[in-house]
Amino acid sequence: MAKLFRAAIMGPPGSGKGTISKRIAQSFGLQYLSSGHYLRESIAANTEAGVLVRTYVDRSMLVPDHVMTKLMLPRLENMIGHSWLLDGFPRTLSQAQALNNLCQLDLVISLNIPYETLRERLSDRLIHPASGRVYNMGFNKPQVQGKDDITGEPLVQHDDDKPEALMTRLRHYKDVAKPVIDLYKSQGILPLIFRYRD
Ligand code: AMP
Repeated sequence: MAKLFRAAIMGPPGSGKGTISKRIAQSFGLQYLSSGHYLRESIAANTEAGVLVRTYVDRSMLVPDHVMTKLMLPRLENMIGHSWLLDGFPRTLSQAQALNNLCQLDLVISLNIPYETLRERLSDRLIHPASGRVYNMGFNKPQVQGKDDITGEPLVQHDDDKPEALMTRLRHYKDVAKPVIDLYKSQGILPLIFRYRD
């Protein structure tokens, strides 16, 4: 039987984490598991949890750890026997510890992108407010300019993607990600920080 491979990817807002993850998962035949996707699914289902989740996601705030682990861990348990790449989870030390109790990751990728690149990327980012679908005018354009591919509704720039909000978001990302990165470094599964430029 082939050895299973389980990895997670971390990156600041605007790092292109989702796009890169999908490409890696496809190239290496990994199941792609995105916390943002599962959250958007629960918002769309309009369940009690979904309504709560929306209040955080709409403001680009982290959903509380207990909600995240309840959402993600059962899905990962269902993935026993599969190789996968996790995008967006864990984001906090508490989430990483909960994941550790379920399984040992083989590799963690942390994207380290220059501030200027993040600023440019986010200024190019448009979202479809109702679904949370994200587009980028540089590398993930909608089929029709300014319109959502599925509904044809207008796309907008999120307030949090405006330059004035970016510094605060980045600082917050660094504060929360650092202990997670340190944990994975100490486990020897975060061997490199990937740096790239456009
Ligand atoms: P993403 O698609 O990974 O950029 O996530 C979109 C939004 O979902 C984030 O801005 C957060 O509000 C929320 N989110 C995604 N993953 C997590 C997580 N692991 N912990 C807390 N909130 C999360």
